[in-house]
Amino acid sequence: MFGWTGKILKIDLSSGRAVREDVPADVLYEYLGGRGLGIRLMRDYFRLDPFSPEMPLIFTVGPLCGTPSPTSARMSVVSRSPLTNTIYDSSCGGLFAHKIKAAGLDAIMITGKSRRPVYIQVTETDAALYDASGLWGNDTLETMSALMDKGSVAAIGPAGENGVLFANIMVNASNSVGRGGLGAVMGSKNLKAVVVNGGRRVEIAQKESFKKGQEDVMRLFKASPIIFGELGISEYGTPALVDLIRQRRMVPTENFRKTFFEGAGNYSGPSFKRHYKAKKEGCFGCPIRCKKVDSCGKALPEYETASHFGALNRNSDIHSIVKSNELC
Ligand code: SF4
Repeated sequence: MFGWTGKILKIDLSSGRAVREDVPADVLYEYLGGRGLGIRLMRDYFRLDPFSPEMPLIFTVGPLCGTPSPTSARMSVVSRSPLTNTIYDSSCGGLFAHKIKAAGLDAIMITGKSRRPVYIQVTETDAALYDASGLWGNDTLETMSALMDKGSVAAIGPAGENGVLFANIMVNASNSVGRGGLGAVMGSKNLKAVVVNGGRRVEIAQKESFKKGQEDVMRLFKASPIIFGELGISEYGTPALVDLIRQRRMVPTENFRKTFFEGAGNYSGPSFKRHYKAKKEGCFGCPIRCKKVDSCGKALPEYETASHFGALNRNSDIHSIVKSNELC
């Protein structure tokens, strides 16, 4: 198969059973991309309570993930949100998505509930559960550093373990499966982390056409001022949007009561570069590399975090914004 692997890994945490199954080609074509496939896989489960053991937590990638296609190293994590009760998907980057494909999979579908805390380790040939009692209670950075030599890690911290309705799943330290509370779904299954590793390559059917498409996308990226422009997100990360949105007087300010905050310039993209010597970082193979880290490699805030710990709280202190981001 080209692009896709045609395989899904189904893991039942209640029984400890893991099986690799074929995904029919027509399903892959009709429900394109990680989000499409993930939502399709929810068809038999969407009426369940988000914390029901049978509720699936699904990690899916699309056909371009694992290829050199720009910005394709992303996955969708799908389940039912305990916060909104809607079918929910969150897009997440980092290395994890690429590793799902490299392990020979298009999706990992986790159901059931373990009796004790566990983590799952997935390789090209195997999937096994391991005791995570010693990791339970740890924050996500501690969990990552305990498991990162085994592969790419998606993990929850105490918020997910304790059912906080907006708990994230964190991926490779600084990428978030955010907003819908899927960390709490993971915690309800007593699942502390998923670790994925593999080395398989994705086959491309028409290499010449693919290369041409890749070049077209790069040309459009380069023509976009917001991506590769002098003040764009490649240079300054998503906080490049701080100045853009401020200029249009569209900044959510003082808990959404106003739309302009005069202090926003203090935490703009150039301010992060000046104060933290921000360096480029990105999802696997991405030419834009819109993530930014400080000189020690610690993740700096994205636009939403900067703006909400900033204008929304009427706070123009960049250092407190960075600290708040780190704590969250
Ligand atoms: S580094 Fe930024 S632009 Fe590139 S794939 Fe990740 S989120 Fe998208």
